[in-house]
Amino acid sequence: MDGPREGCESGRIGTLGKRVWGNSPWVRIPLPPPASTDERNVIGDRMGVATDTPESSDHGLSDFDLMGLALEEARLAGEQGEVPIGAVVVIDGKVVARRHNEREQSQDPTSHAELLAVRDAAAAVGSWRLENATVVVTLEPCAMCAGLMVNARVGRVVFGARSYENGACGSLYQLGSDPRLNHEFVTVADVRADECSELLSSYFAGLR
Ligand SMILES: [Zn+2]
Repeated sequence: MDGPREGCESGRIGTLGKRVWGNSPWVRIPLPPPASTDERNVIGDRMGVATDTPESSDHGLSDFDLMGLALEEARLAGEQGEVPIGAVVVIDGKVVARRHNEREQSQDPTSHAELLAVRDAAAAVGSWRLENATVVVTLEPCAMCAGLMVNARVGRVVFGARSYENGACGSLYQLGSDPRLNHEFVTVADVRADECSELLSSYFAGLR
């Protein structure tokens, strides 16, 4: 339902990069254009997210390498008849969880790769608080999963392909940097985005 639109565009982004919400309804926030050659693109300039965060946190593996592991998981999912999406969680330099989408085999709508990986990570470290965690996932998290990142107090979220229809880390919403919520996380987009989206499009092409 469309409501009054006055002020939505002008009131959304403050001068210091802090978004000013308050003007309902939610509107589509434009993402920065996808990076063409550079596989990394910290959403910061327009998304109200810090840009001075190190790209690879304090772990030895780069985001590029970690996305490689997430891509391996995604391929496994594809081989099992699942939509090929994979995720890994890194804490203090260690990969503590790696999972892929299992929605078909579990018939559970919450079986998204990053949700399963975050749950595994919490179990592995014995804490629901994952402030030092980086979640790396091949597709931009949905609202459910981005909400989970907030609830788990995740430090960083790195994703590959953007989800313009479902994405809640920049495309439709940016739940990682909404000052009304009790936690914000750094979002890094477009890491190996071409490989991530190619995997998805060839999977769906194969279904036709
Ligand atoms: Zn999700």
